[in-house]
Formats: sequence, C-alpha cells, structure tokens
Amino acid sequence: MAGMLAGKAALITGAGNGIGRATALLFAREGARVAAADLNLEGAQETAAAIREAGGEAVALSVEVVEAAQVEAMLDAAVEAFGRIDCAFNNAGIGPANLDHFGRRTHEWTEDGFDRMIAVNLKGVWLCMKGEIERMKADEGGGAIVNTSSVAGLLGLPGGSAYVAAKHAVSGLTRTAGIEYAGDNIRVNAVCPGYIATDMTREARARRGNELMNRVPARRMGEAQEIAEMVCWLCSDRSSYVTGATYNVDGGYVAA
Ligand code: NAD
Repeated sequence: MAGMLAGKAALITGAGNGIGRATALLFAREGARVAAADLNLEGAQETAAAIREAGGEAVALSVEVVEAAQVEAMLDAAVEAFGRIDCAFNNAGIGPANLDHFGRRTHEWTEDGFDRMIAVNLKGVWLCMKGEIERMKADEGGGAIVNTSSVAGLLGLPGGSAYVAAKHAVSGLTRTAGIEYAGDNIRVNAVCPGYIATDMTREARARRGNELMNRVPARRMGEAQEIAEMVCWLCSDRSSYVTGATYNVDGGYVAA
C-alpha cells in the first residue's frame, strides 16, 4: 500500500480512543501496519477492526502503561505481529478530570491523584520509550518515536498542576532522548496538542466552553485528526532531520 508510512510497523498507545485512535486510522491509511494498544482493550479492538475493515493490517493489544511487565509484553507482541517497530506513538494519558481533579489548584490535589497522574503521563511514557529504544537500537533500521506532550508541557495552566508537571517532563524526556539517540538513527519528538475535542476535554468544554475558546486564536477546538497529521509526518521519512523537537498543534494558543 502506498503512503507516507508505507511498509512501516507502528505501535500506538492510547489507541482505543481520541487522538490515539485517529492516529492509528491515519497511519493505516498511509500504509503502516498498526499495533493499537490501550488499557481499554475493547477500544483498541474497535480501532483495529476499523483498520481491517478498511483493508489495512492491525492488531489490538492490552496494556497498562505504568506496569513495566505489561509494557514489555505489549512491545514483544507488536514485534511478534509485524517483525519490528519502526514508529511508536506514546500517547496514552489521562487528564485531571479522569482523576476527579478538574479545576483543583496545586494545594487541592490529593497525593493519590498526583501519584497516578505522574505514573501514567510520565512514567508510562518513559517505560514505553525505554523498551522501544532498546528494540530500535538492536535493529539497524532505527526508528521514530513521538510522545504526546501538550501545550501544558510548555505553559502553566491553572487547575492543571500534576498534569502540567508530567507534560513538562515529557517535553524534557523527548529533548534529552532526541540528543542521546540521534547517532543511532532513532528520532524522538513530541507533539503538543492544544484543546482537542476528545473525551478528555468533555468536562472542560461543558464547564468552560466559551471562556476556553476565547483564548484560542483559531476560535475553535482542534480535531484529533489534526494531531494525527503531525504525528504521521514526524513518524515518516519526510521528517528525517527532525529530532528532539516539540511541535505545537494548538490553533495558535502558545503563540498568543
Ligand atoms: P482520550 O481520553 O480520548 O484517550 C486516552 C486513551 O488513553 C484512552 O483510550 C485510555 O483508555 C488510554 N489510557 C489512559 N490511561 C492509560 C493507561 N494507564 N494505560 C494505557 N492506556 C491508557 O484522550 P485524548 O485527548 O485522546 O488524549 C490522548 C493524549 O493526548 C493524552 O496523553 C493527553 O494528555 C494528550 N492531550 C490531549 C489534549 C486534548 O485536548 N484532548 C491536549 C493535550 C494533550
């Protein structure tokens, strides 16, 4: 199948919904074979089924990204399915609303909430990167890794606290790994979405819709597909000289 990712084997976490699902579908349309992984296996299966129905190749995998053994099993399963991992999108994540912490200021976060946020949004990304890099290094072809940071990885956001801390850390991990593995033909970049219309932002939209949009120069939410397009380019050979970089896809939010 021709396309920007023709012949590549891709692994996507958080592929059972939102940005991860849109990216999995786009990757497949661009010719990649896709391992769609998620804590919500049913969601991952729906994504994989949609790819297969459209004539693509996909497998669904179950993973809890904070558990090293599960991450290893996911990576092994992806390699078993497609022989290697050329592209990895470390995208699984949660927002404050997923922890019932929407709108809480720093001192109002619970220790459990803080720990879970850092575990999923930071440690989970690192565990995935670690295993992907080990496999890509062992394989002469190298690879491309994209992590999902956020505009919250570049700016403070009131009510974001541990989310903002984790996403800043993802930006830092990305820059560091970009430098460390540039000589191994492994590129590591991050995408920084602004406000995207997915389940994660449903509560924010319901509570703060107009107020939020007034702060976005484009005056609208982004679509998951618009993030997927950037990830696809970053995973493709067209971005062969791009590494250690973070790309905003945010309707101008960070520039304003
Ligand atoms: P979403 O809730 O639609 O999808 C997130 C997916 O991650 C879900 O399928 C969920 O099951 C999975 N997931 C959650 N915890 C997991 C875990 N521990 N292990 C494995 N899978 C897990 O949200 P989304 O908006 O598509 O978010 C995807 C990524 O984009 C997240 O990292 C999020 O922080 C980031 N992001 C989203 C926005 C936005 O406005 N939606 C903005 C900036 C960044």
